[in-house]
Amino acid sequence: MTFAELSGYLDRLESTSSRNELVKTLAELYARSSADEIQPLTYLIQGRLVPFFEPIEIGLGEKLVIAAIAQAFATPPDEVAKLFGRLGDLGQVAATLSAHGSNSRLPVAEVHARLMEIAVASGAGSVEKKRSLFAALLKQVDPVSAKHLVRIALGRLRLGIGDPTVLDALSFAKKGDKSLRPVLEGAYNRVSDLGLIAKTFWSGGESAVNALKVTVGRPIRSQLAERLPNPEAVIKRLGLVAVQPKYDGIRVQIHKNGSEVRVFSRNLEDYTLMFSELTAAAQALKDETLILDGEAIAYSKELEEYLPFQLTASRRRQHGIEQAARELPLVAFIFDILYRNGRDLTELPYEERLAMVDAVIAGSTVLLPAPIIKTDSVEVLTKTLLDNISQGLEGVVVKRPDSKYQAGARNFNWVKLKRHTSGELNDTVDLVLLGYYFGKGKRAEFGVGALLAGVYDAEHDRFATITKLGTGLSDAEWRQIHERADRLQVDHRPARVESILTPDVWLEPEVVVEVMADEITPSPRHTAGKAGDEPGFALRFPRVVSFRGADKRPEDATTVKEIASLFRQQRERKTPS
Ligand code: AMP
Repeated sequence: MTFAELSGYLDRLESTSSRNELVKTLAELYARSSADEIQPLTYLIQGRLVPFFEPIEIGLGEKLVIAAIAQAFATPPDEVAKLFGRLGDLGQVAATLSAHGSNSRLPVAEVHARLMEIAVASGAGSVEKKRSLFAALLKQVDPVSAKHLVRIALGRLRLGIGDPTVLDALSFAKKGDKSLRPVLEGAYNRVSDLGLIAKTFWSGGESAVNALKVTVGRPIRSQLAERLPNPEAVIKRLGLVAVQPKYDGIRVQIHKNGSEVRVFSRNLEDYTLMFSELTAAAQALKDETLILDGEAIAYSKELEEYLPFQLTASRRRQHGIEQAARELPLVAFIFDILYRNGRDLTELPYEERLAMVDAVIAGSTVLLPAPIIKTDSVEVLTKTLLDNISQGLEGVVVKRPDSKYQAGARNFNWVKLKRHTSGELNDTVDLVLLGYYFGKGKRAEFGVGALLAGVYDAEHDRFATITKLGTGLSDAEWRQIHERADRLQVDHRPARVESILTPDVWLEPEVVVEVMADEITPSPRHTAGKAGDEPGFALRFPRVVSFRGADKRPEDATTVKEIASLFRQQRERKTPS
């Protein structure tokens, strides 16, 4: 397939306004691609060159792209900049200037390889090299291709194609329906690499996909926790449980392969450099290969206490990682082990894995075992929960001792229990920003008034609105939101967003915020949980507690199903039997 043909599809995907259409168009594109090109193509449609967990970003700056466009089309840079001022999109600028451009038949795989060369260029002279390589590429393609190439190079190709959409499209392309989604999703949970899955599926079919294994160096999708309202409900549902503190830090999956260690976040980003203490600690462990799962948390030596999520996350933004490591050293509480010396451990009962954790990290002062007690008593569980809360922790996570590690699953093998303040939701929810309204008065200064926020409808891979947000943020945070929102603006409702309300500006779903609210109420204005004439759900008195950009992707937000279950729990609390 040529890059020009792919670009035609990107244009179609861009103008699609329904998720079904998105899947259909993508399936058509897949059906036409060969096993050799399907891997690069899969990364490119998400505006990437490699899977999410590989830290290779093309991310050319605007200035460099302007210079490359100028060079490619022999136009003075200030004219390019002027045109950019008028059109507001460098992709359109390139398309306009290349109107008489060539009609080359560059294959997708070749364009991908050349973009890779640009992305990895580093060191002295690399800026010029990137500019010239990119200019040469632009010169060889047609206007529509130039538009998409520029957007990819800027990291701004936003077609709203989430990972589940890709999985559905792959199934549709081969089978004409969604029936292969579970097989593909199972592999995705083990290897987190859509390009690899697509290639394997195309070359070896379903059985080859089934045979894709957990591997050191490729993150596994994290097992997640369900919620229950109180200790009684937990013991009633799970019986004997293992109880651990719930740390409010950042989920880390540590992969050790000899002396090479990589740390991945829950949203599959590579955090190796940022969490250098964890890397060093894992290098010092005896075992040759390991995958450990845990929670990293910053510790203040002065206060002798663990710091809340926001401070742990602030390490990401600090320039001097070494200085940050001195001022806010990190530890990681390790609560699981998924792989050891060539052996996949995910099928073992939790109790056995936990015993292995203790043996593997024994002696480390940075990788610490999460303390645990086992109980089937409501009283003991209640006391443990209260003890943890009084120590400033979020609550507890309760686990079934005989459960496997189910990659990517949120089920009752793990249950989180947090503080319960009567009358309020007993937990925060994670919402995705879907749009905003221009502010009036003081807010107008920040360019954003209220935010439109939603939850994830995992069943249909869509985002549904649940509330407007207007409080809880500091002035600096409103500015930060505006800055981030600026990059995510799209000129029409994204295909995966379902909404009755129309905000002034639509946003590509990306930013996740943690929100506390008083309660969930039925509402005809929101689409979360809305079915036929039944109303949807809304949040009453919502306020933003934190940004979760550091560890959550939009598909990790609270789901419609969870909201429905929280609504039921809330009703039961109000009318005790
Ligand atoms: P939540 O993000 O509220 O859904 O809670 C689940 C998260 O709690 C996990 O993804 C971990 O990042 C975090 N967590 C903290 N302590 C533990 C623990 N002991 N076991 C499992 N998860 C934990």
